Formats: sequence, structure tokens, C-alpha cells
Amino acid sequence: MPTHGLTFDTTYTDLPPCLYAHLNPEPAPAPRVVILNRDLAQFLGLDFDGLSAEEQAAMFAGNALPKGAAPYAQAYAGHQFGHFTMLGDGRALMWGEHIAPDGRRWDIQFKGSGRTPYSRGGDGRAALGPMLREYVISEALHALGIPTTRALAVATTGQAVHRDEPLDGAVLTRVARSHIRVGTFQYAAMQDDPSVLRALLSHTIARHDPELACSKSQAEGLLHAVIARQASLIVEWMRVGFIHGVMNTDNMTLSGETIDYGPCAFMDAYNPQTVFSSIDHAGRYAYAKQPHIAQWNIARLAEALLPLIDEDTKRAVVKAREVVETFAGVFQGKWLAMMRAKIGLADAQDGDAALIGDLLRWMQTSGTDFTKTFRDLSRPGLLVAPTAPYDHPAFRGWYTRWQTRRARDGGPCPMRTNNPRIIPRNHIVEEALGAATAGDMQPLHDLLAALQDPYTDRPGLERYQSPPPPSRRVYQTFCGT
Ligand code: AMP
Ligand code: MG
Repeated sequence: MPTHGLTFDTTYTDLPPCLYAHLNPEPAPAPRVVILNRDLAQFLGLDFDGLSAEEQAAMFAGNALPKGAAPYAQAYAGHQFGHFTMLGDGRALMWGEHIAPDGRRWDIQFKGSGRTPYSRGGDGRAALGPMLREYVISEALHALGIPTTRALAVATTGQAVHRDEPLDGAVLTRVARSHIRVGTFQYAAMQDDPSVLRALLSHTIARHDPELACSKSQAEGLLHAVIARQASLIVEWMRVGFIHGVMNTDNMTLSGETIDYGPCAFMDAYNPQTVFSSIDHAGRYAYAKQPHIAQWNIARLAEALLPLIDEDTKRAVVKAREVVETFAGVFQGKWLAMMRAKIGLADAQDGDAALIGDLLRWMQTSGTDFTKTFRDLSRPGLLVAPTAPYDHPAFRGWYTRWQTRRARDGGPCPMRTNNPRIIPRNHIVEEALGAATAGDMQPLHDLLAALQDPYTDRPGLERYQSPPPPSRRVYQTFCGT
């Protein structure tokens, strides 16, 4: 197979061999490409148009990898719902690293390509529905301007995977700035050999924070950088009502990209305690808990890095704690700035936090739709002839305060670019996935097209914008692994 523009400049496999395992994907008996992301391919400088449908299918199902690929699975550990486990790519396989025309380095990875040395009891496979779900939601986050891994293709394998029922097997090809996770550092820290941790730190700094290369306190520098990226990421999730659902340490990247779309979902009615994941009984990963969990995960990263922070463990713990404790302040500052922008305030003034808090409390009490409410606020004359839920004294009172505050603002601060019109609403996503897994891809293509430009009002897209009627509300989502 020719290279299709792939540069294959892989640096991860220069790391100590305990961090990965080379192997090939398991062949798929009857592969077929279900969706290919031409925009992303073009952005990456890749061209698959010279291939026949059969050749594309063979490539994206893992039967005929592009020339130069030397696939490997990555080892990592993770705290899953608080419990530590040694894991690794149980069903993923890296093609390698690619340098795009923009000069940046990208991992290209299969998900669902068969068993690996890290599969434990799993079959190494993935079902079509969950892989298309990752495709749609990750592309939606990208279009919303939120850092995320992206989806290049989904191919079916022609082989059933057995979950509660037999389902079509599929392979997702995913693209990321890197797949280095908090759990990768936890895994390295578990090795007897401290040079493994040191090598992983150097590799990560070269990829994500090259300005730290000459720093005397690289580990602390990395922690600060991850705190900044993760705080920004979670603020962005909260801006659009996104709930990741499985923020285990193996599902948190050091690059600050959203990764591993399992039971994630966008909230409809505003409630900070919202949880969708069917396995999150304690609400550990609820909407408003996400910043706390991010800090908890970063504390696990700091623990892994202790030997590199200071030779003296006591001193290392003190230093690590000081850094980790900055998370709350960093997050709070970014969150307040984001919420100000959401309600169209350009400057910071006393009382803003109370104004925002009161709006959120009213939204929670009245159960208003998160996305629609903020978008409605950006409409001039909302209270000229108000309808429910805005024809309410509590809301009128708040609205008047807000108008007064806006009049004192140095603005302008356009609200629309901070408040999407279109998010991938659960009931629409479920409907499109239902059709796609039954063989009709059109609703999914229509949804993807609608999600491409989420901030602009466009006619004909009302069904994607409306909150679900009560009969179509989705309360639970499933990992589907
Ligand atoms: P996830 O919840 O998808 O982030 O996965 C957690 C861990 O389970 C990772 O190590 C995955 O590679 C592994 N895993 C998930 N599904 C499978 C599967 N079907 N076969 C093997 N390993 C899996
Ligand atoms: Mg994962």
C-alpha cells in the first residue's frame, strides 16, 4: 500500500519497551467503510481518493495498513471510579505518528481492531453504534471549538461482536495530538526503573510543552501546564453542557483533549447533578463535579511524578500539593470568564458571580433547557411579549439586573459565539444511530452537517435545536464496550 501522504515519524516507540507492544490488527472478514472524514483527511494532508472502495475498506478495518505503519498498543494504568487498575489499549492500536501540513504531530489510532496484550477479558472489538457515536460527538465538540480527539473513519468488519446481543463489529480510526494519559504516567511510575518515568516525561514535554525542555523543574512545569489545559477543557465542556461520563485517570489526556467517548452526553434541562452514565451510580462524574474530578485526577498525576519533583519524598509531596492546589483558583477564574462571556459581559465587575449564580439557580428551579435559555438571552426583546418560562417575576427581576449590568459594561461582547444553537441532543443522536445501525446513514449525515456550524442561525434546522419533548428525553447512556 502506498503512503497516502502519511509521514510516519513515530517517536513513542523510542520509549522504553515496557510502555507499548508491537502487534498487528486482527483481520476483518468483510470490511466496509461506513464513513470517511474527508475534511479531516485534507487537514492532515492525507489523500485516500486514489483507493478503490475495497482498498479503503481493507485499510480502515486493519487488513492492509498503509506503508510505513508499525502498529503498537500502549500500556497504561488508571483509577476507574476511584479504583486503581493496570490497563493498556485493550482494543486500540496505533498506526503511528504523522506530521500534518501545519507542522504539528498527530497520533493516528484504531479502536476496535482486535485483542492486544492488554485486553484482559475483553474481545478487543467494538460495535458500530458506539463507534459512530464517538465519531458524531467528537466532531461536534471540534465544531464547537473544544479540544478533542477526532474521527477519521469508521469501517465495519463483517464480524459480529457479542454484547447483550450480536452487533455489527466496527473499527474507528481516531486522531489525537497524543494518547498520553494521566494513566500512562501512573503505569510508568509503577515500574521498578525510574528511567521509564523520566523518559516519558521528556517525551511528553517534547510533544506538548517544548518550552519546558530547559526548565530545572520539568515535572512541576508539566503539572502546571496540564492544570491550565484541563481547567480550560472542563470550562469549555461546562459552557456547552457536556458531561464526559467516565473521567477515569486513563481517560484524561495530558494534551488537554477530550478523549474516550463512552456514555457522554449533553445536558438538556439544567441541573448541575446531571449524570447520564448507566454505571455511574454515585454521580461521581456528574456535570458540576467535573472540575473536582479533574483536580483529583491531576493529584494522581502529581503522585506519579513525585520522584521527579524532588529526590526527598517529603519535599516532593509538599511541592506537588502546592501545585495541585492551584487548580481550583485557575478553574474558577476561567469559569467565571466563560460565564461572563456567555451572558455578554466583556469586563469583570463586582457582583458578576452572584448575577451568574442567580441565573443558574433560576434555571435549575424552573428546569429550563441549558442551551436554549442562553441562546434566548442573546435575542433582543426577550421580555417584550414573553412566553413560558420567561413570563415569571423571578426571571423578570433577574433580567432587569442583567440589563442594568450590561449598560455598565465596556462591551461589546457578542453572546452568540459563546452560546451554541445546535448541540448533539441525545434523542436526535440516538435516532440517527438507530437508523445508521439499521443501514440508513442519511439521518447521521444530516446531523453531522447540522453540527458543523453550531453557532449560526440557519433555517430548516429547528428539529436539531429544540429540546426533546418529555416522551423523548434520554436519561441514561451506556458505554457499549
Ligand atoms: P474505556 O472504558 O473504554 O476507557 O476502557 C477502559 C479499559 O478497558 C481500556 O484499557 C480499554 O482498552 C479496555 N477495553 C474496553 N473495551 C474493551 C474490549 N472490548 N476488549 C478489550 N479491552 C477493552
Ligand atoms: Mg479509555
